[in-house]
This record gives sequence, C-alpha cells and structure tokens, in this order.
Amino acid sequence: MPTDQTEPDRFRADVRAFLGDRLPADLAAHVAKGGYPRSECIRDWIATLAERGWSAPQWPREWGGAELPPRLHAILDEECALANAPAVESLGISTVGPALLEFGSPEQKSRFLPSIVTAREHWCQGFSEPGAGSDLAALNTRAVREGDVFKVTGSKIWTSSAHEADWMLCLARSDPDAPRHQGISALLIDMRAAGVRVRPIRWMNGVHGFNEVFLDGVEVPVENLLGTENGGWAVAMQALGPERIFVSRVAENKRLLRQLHETMATPDADGHRLADDPAFADRAAALEVRLLALEERFVQFLDDLAAGRPVGPEVSMLKLTGSRLIQAFEALIVEAHGPAVLPFDAARTAAEGLGLEVGAPSAAMAALKMLHHRGYTIAAGSSEVQLEVLSRRVLGL
Ligand SMILES: Cc1cc2nc3c(=O)[nH]c(=O)nc-3n(C[C@H](O)[C@H](O)[C@H](O)COP(=O)(O)OP(=O)(O)OC[C@H]3O[C@@H](n4cnc5c(N)ncnc54)[C@H](O)[C@@H]3O)c2cc1C
Repeated sequence: MPTDQTEPDRFRADVRAFLGDRLPADLAAHVAKGGYPRSECIRDWIATLAERGWSAPQWPREWGGAELPPRLHAILDEECALANAPAVESLGISTVGPALLEFGSPEQKSRFLPSIVTAREHWCQGFSEPGAGSDLAALNTRAVREGDVFKVTGSKIWTSSAHEADWMLCLARSDPDAPRHQGISALLIDMRAAGVRVRPIRWMNGVHGFNEVFLDGVEVPVENLLGTENGGWAVAMQALGPERIFVSRVAENKRLLRQLHETMATPDADGHRLADDPAFADRAAALEVRLLALEERFVQFLDDLAAGRPVGPEVSMLKLTGSRLIQAFEALIVEAHGPAVLPFDAARTAAEGLGLEVGAPSAAMAALKMLHHRGYTIAAGSSEVQLEVLSRRVLGL
C-alpha cells in the first residue's frame, strides 16, 4: 500500500494505544457522562498530551508541537473525542500561541510558549467589549503609552476562563486618532497586576464559564507589547485564524452521534428502544448524513491547508454547520432521554461539574450541555455574521 494510505492508519493506531495507556479511566468516565472535568484534570491531561507534542499538534516541534499535517491532527481530535478525553479547551493553545508564534519576540516566545503548551500557565482572550463583539474594531479599552509602560483602562466581556487565567491577550486602542483598525495594540497582561478585576458571568446552565474583566490603569511593560504598537489588528486576525477550520467541531459531533446511538439503544422502563422506532431512527439518520457532509467538506479544507492553498471566506460554512449540528444532536439526545434530563442540582453542578444522576448515565448532563452549547451560535463569530460572509463574499448576493 502507498505510504500516504498507511500513514493515517498507523497514526490512528498509535493514538489509540497512547489513549489506552495514558487517559485516566475516571476522567474518561466523567467526560462520557457529559461532566465538566476540573481545571486541574484538564491541565494534567494537556501536559500528558504535550509529552508527544499533541497538545498543540500543528505547532513547530521547537516550541513543543508535533508539526502534524492537518489530516493527522483531525484524526488525533477524533480519537481523543471518541475515547472521551477532555477537549483541549485552551485559549493559550488555540489563539494566543499562534499569535505568539507569528509576532512574538524571541524573549516572548521563550517566556510564554513552553508554559502554554504544557498548561502550566493559563490564558484568556480579552477581545470583546460591551460595545464591540462582531464589530471588534469598535473596541474602546484604552492603552496610553507612558515611557516604558502602557496604562490600560477599560472593560472586557464574555472573557472565557478569565477567573482561572494567569495572563490575558488584550486588545486596546493605543491611537484614538488613527483609522479604527490601525490604532489598536495587542498586550500581554498579567492577570495579577494591580487594577485587574474579574467578575463572573454564568452560562445559562448555571456554570461559571466566562466573565467581565475590568482594567483600571493597569500598567503593562512595553516588553509585553505583542507585534508593533498600533499593529494589534494583525495579531488579532492571526489569533483567530486557526479557529476557522477546527471550529467545525467534527470530532465533537462524532462523539455526540455515538451518544445518541447509545441512548437510542437503551430500553426505557417499558422495555422500548428508540432504535426500534423508525420515525426517531430516521431523524437520527438525517443528522448523521449532515455530519458526513460536514466531514467531507472539512477534509477538503484540511487538504487545502496542507497544500498551502488559501482558505477563503467559504470556510464560514464549517463553523455555521458544525455549531448547528451540535445543537441539533443535543436537542435530539435530550428528547431521547425524555424526562430523565429534567432534575438537576445547580449547586452541585457548579461545585463538582456533575448534575444529579438519574436515568441513563449521560441523562443528567444532557439538558445542561444543550443549554451550554446554545452559545456556539455566537462564540467565534455569530451565525448571522457567517451567513453574511457566505451570502456576500461567496455567493456575491
Ligand atoms: C460561549 C462564548 C464564549 C466567548 N468567549 C470569549 C472570549 O474568551 N473572549 C472574547 O473576547 N470574547 C468571547 N466571546 C464573545 C464573542 O466573541 C461575542 O459575543 C461575539 O463576537 C458577538 O459579539 P456581541 O456579543 O457583542 O454581539 P453583537 O455583535 O452585538 O451581535 C448582536 C446580534 O447582531 C447580529 N449581528 C451583528 N453583526 C451583524 C452583521 N454584520 N450582520 C448580521 N447580523 C449581525 C449578531 O449575529 C447577533 O445576533 C464569547 C462568546 C460566547 C457566546
């Protein structure tokens, strides 16, 4: 067989063996139930993946990555999801690292990249503000240069994980007189610096996932400027770039498909299985077909990426389709569990990351996850904005 056919198979077997050996069984059981693993467990897991360069699979080896071709990265994600490994939800790896790799000084790279890739330090992304989300260039947080520091004042919102973060990649307006995109600087802010205050915002399922961050005259040394002064827009675009393909969440959708099938195969109190209900099975099959179509398109984008072909605005379809599919799977899983999804204990969920366990093992978290993932309509570019891009820039409407 030609090498290009055996390589993915060999890699998949290698990943499976690694997962069998190193993924803690209790952690996988927690994820299989839909639980939110504790941050320490996720950090430990990221550090374990980092031993193989798999916490940041496409990063250069020099900086702790594995330089995996995009298709192998997708296989890694899929095997991890199907083994119920916790998702590597690290803004340091997904957004800050790519910006540091491109724009960081040698000192910044050496200082930050090793601790990002091993999850020894945690990052948040301070881009959105109360008046600047889809229209990010409207941001108003000010950075005033005073000698060798910037003084930063303003507020950020929807900042995921800011309450656990050591550092923030922050966009601030450093030249209010320049055209909007040309007066922004990207700053690396120590979350323990004087003047940083974090206030929680709970997701609609009660879990503390994101925050408001208030910056009151925070002093940021000039050496923590990433890229050039007033060159922050390019840094932001680089940070958000890698999100564009993997945000299709194909691996996560595959895990949900399996969860749906498991739920359908479990008999209810009367011994009925939804798998034997042709109407319900049709609806499950329709979602599976959508997933196959998404994966097909995802793989085409991966090949474009690998071949160095430019990824155009049509990539917006991945985020749009993937997020909608997750929501459709979760709605059907909730329907399949029926009333077992209703009882939950918000206090215990907040404290332990698990709801009350009644019904099938994953039932307790099904409704909470469905509520959580409503946010996918908005995060990483809202569905309306993706539709706008597709209609104007791809279809020319
Ligand atoms: C789960 C989650 C996690 C997040 N994490 C972070 C984070 O860590 N860091 C961070 O900086 N931000 C984060 N965000 C914020 C996110 O980036 C913004 O919410 C998003 O960019 C939308 O901005 P907005 O909330 O200001 O809404 P707006 O931009 O005000 O949009 C309001 C409505 O108008 C629609 N709309 C806006 N512009 C257009 C247009 N041109 N055409 C058609 N419709 C339009 C939108 O679709 C939406 O329905 C997160 C959001 C969520 C949901």
